[in-house]
Amino acid sequence: LSDRLTSVFSSLRSKGRLSDADIDATCREIRIALLEADVALPVVKTFVAQVKERARGVEVSQALNPAQQVVKIVNDELIEILGGETRRLRYAKTPPTVIMLAGLQGAGKTTLAGKLARWLRDQNHTPMLVAADLQRPNAVQQLQVMAERAGVAVYAPEPGNGVGDPIEVARQSIDHARRQQHDIVIIDTAGRLGIDQELMKQAADIRDAVSPDEVLFVVDAMIGQDAVSTAQAFMEGVGFDGVVLTKLDGDARGGAALSVRHITGKPIMFASTGEKLEDFDAFHPDRMASRILDMGDILTLIEQAQKTFDEAEAAKMAGKLTSGEGFTLEDFLEQMMMVQKMGPIKNLLGMMPGMGQMREQLNQVDDRDLDRIAAIIRSMTPGERQNPKMIDGSRRARIAKGSGVTVTEVNGLVTRFFDAQKMMKRMAGGMGIPGMPGGRK
Ligand code: GDP
Ligand code: MG
Repeated sequence: LSDRLTSVFSSLRSKGRLSDADIDATCREIRIALLEADVALPVVKTFVAQVKERARGVEVSQALNPAQQVVKIVNDELIEILGGETRRLRYAKTPPTVIMLAGLQGAGKTTLAGKLARWLRDQNHTPMLVAADLQRPNAVQQLQVMAERAGVAVYAPEPGNGVGDPIEVARQSIDHARRQQHDIVIIDTAGRLGIDQELMKQAADIRDAVSPDEVLFVVDAMIGQDAVSTAQAFMEGVGFDGVVLTKLDGDARGGAALSVRHITGKPIMFASTGEKLEDFDAFHPDRMASRILDMGDILTLIEQAQKTFDEAEAAKMAGKLTSGEGFTLEDFLEQMMMVQKMGPIKNLLGMMPGMGQMREQLNQVDDRDLDRIAAIIRSMTPGERQNPKMIDGSRRARIAKGSGVTVTEVNGLVTRFFDAQKMMKRMAGGMGIPGMPGGRK
């Protein structure tokens, strides 16, 4: 007996929660979306497992169907992971604040140095760029061009002195900045095409020489899966405090963001979106989450559905639905207006499970239609709105006159209302509110 009781209880409980089948089905889609966004496989696995775990305990929502609900959980989780403890730059108590850039060659460090300098200058700082990449022949000159464009100072070894020592240059630059009253120093370092020990050691030596307040790891969003090994190597070899994602103007879906964040736990602080100095912004976790998921339509739908669907209104309606009797013309009007507020979004409803037949209904209502319906209902007496059965022929004629429509139109509305009322009775209990995004199978 106690076994049977337990199973009854568990089936009762599971009714109010998202089912494993719902969660699994949606998570399969999510998994594909993440892999297509180039999130590294181990990260996808951990992340999806995390989402499943979290979705399992969640109550079935009034406003969303299960698939939407799982997508919402995924999106929220993504935003949280990507944005967890987002923070601003940390400035040193005694200037200069030292910011060191590290990353592979071509990641966008030198470009970023210029962008960051300009951005800081616009906030009334007096940044100075430091050329500690003495590896490539043109590296110093490239930084000088950047500095000039950004309108900031640059510290570089004298040309013609042979190959300088980047560690020495970095060390001296700090004293120089102090003397020249620059409050921020941005140190550009050398990268290699691949991870190599010499590069790591040089970066680590520069770090030790200048004790930066911030080491920023600069990573190209296009490197996709490789982001994991690269981030790991820099984490171990140099260590860093924050991440800058570059080349987000490309078509990369940005899986690297999730991989790096997941692997290193370090905040993504800035986003680089082009070659120009102004193509630069703080990192926005919500934008990145929807870019990675690439389910913009569904996310918009979810957002709209939730906004439109006020839980309190839902409860109020639901109460009337159990009988179907208390559903009045005023509720009818209110409901249509809610749907109307959803705008073009209502066309998407047909794509959602169980909402196919609703779309046809909704498509019959356009804005002008709704205005006429509203006019007709407003020409009724409160009694008529509460109890439409009393609207006989002479009342219909009066209402038509009062609202400037034909009696046929009034008849049409009343018929439509009774149809809706019937449908509500049929669906009562099982489906939430017909015509509302909360409708469930
Ligand atoms: P570094 O080797 O890390 O210093 O990389 P660079 O700053 O020299 O950048 C390498 C190339 O990528 C250059 O051609 C830059 O113009 C380009 N680049 C840097 N950041 C971006 C970006 O956000 N978007 C695009 N499209 N190109 C970028
Ligand atoms: Mg460079």
